[in-house]
Amino acid sequence: MTKAVLITGGSRGIGRATARLLGAQGWSVGVNYAQNLAAARETVADVERAGGQALAIAGDVASETDVIAMFDALEQKFGRLDALVNNAGIVAPSSQLADMELARLKRMFDVNVLGAYLCAREAARRMSTARGGAGGVIVNISSAAARLGSPNEYIDYAGSKGAVDTLTIGLAKELGPQGVRVNAVRPGLIDTDIHASGGKPERAAQLGATTPLGRPGSANEVAESIVWLLSDAASYVTGALLDVTGGR
Ligand code: NAP
Repeated sequence: MTKAVLITGGSRGIGRATARLLGAQGWSVGVNYAQNLAAARETVADVERAGGQALAIAGDVASETDVIAMFDALEQKFGRLDALVNNAGIVAPSSQLADMELARLKRMFDVNVLGAYLCAREAARRMSTARGGAGGVIVNISSAAARLGSPNEYIDYAGSKGAVDTLTIGLAKELGPQGVRVNAVRPGLIDTDIHASGGKPERAAQLGATTPLGRPGSANEVAESIVWLLSDAASYVTGALLDVTGGR
């Protein structure tokens, strides 16, 4: 039977690249997006062309109502849930903490932390063998920022990703006995739209050149690691934080 995965923030960037690779492996993919229906539709078409099935699912991960509805929509369409790629995330313009407004801080933690926790909670409720589920896999998308701290750029974002790492460590221990593996991927400087949304479209190219591998990474290179963690090839891997950073 075809496996089904929900990818939050599946419409663009790392989420879209992951959807494409999973489509090529025959997965059914729930492509969550916040605003960009056109991009979500493109991802759905890519998955279908690659050989999988897909469904665009609107929803803000920071909204509990939306998150529950997203998982319900996926299960209604595909009849099962085998995996979550907890990927939706935001940055904000570079700033020192002293200059950050409360609204920015709240939104950062609402989307990147509360959103990740709510999505992981829903996946746990539905996949845990202790709750009637069939087991599964969660891959949380953190960031190298969690260990770098991102001074003068966005220490709010870095802290939100620190929380994602800690979620991964704790939840892997909770859910290991319940048939669910939980890991995190920590990308470095990856060539996606996220840098433009933080006001620096050239950031990945410029800083990527300073990494040991001398270039930014591609969304596809991150997606490959996510797909591996989702697969049975990673059957003994849980609670791991996998850096995909070109050595940064
Ligand atoms: P991206 O290209 O900016 O895409 C962001 C995706 O998240 C889009 O699909 C967007 O949907 C969705 N999204 C944003 N806010 C959302 C919300 N509140 N609810 C649901 N979906 C939401 O980002 P990316 O670079 O692929 O980043 C993906 C993940 O990797 C993020 O967690 C990010 O922090 C992490 N990461 C990225 C890098 C990097 O260098 N790119 C490095 C380290 C970590 P719409 O299309 O509807 O806007």
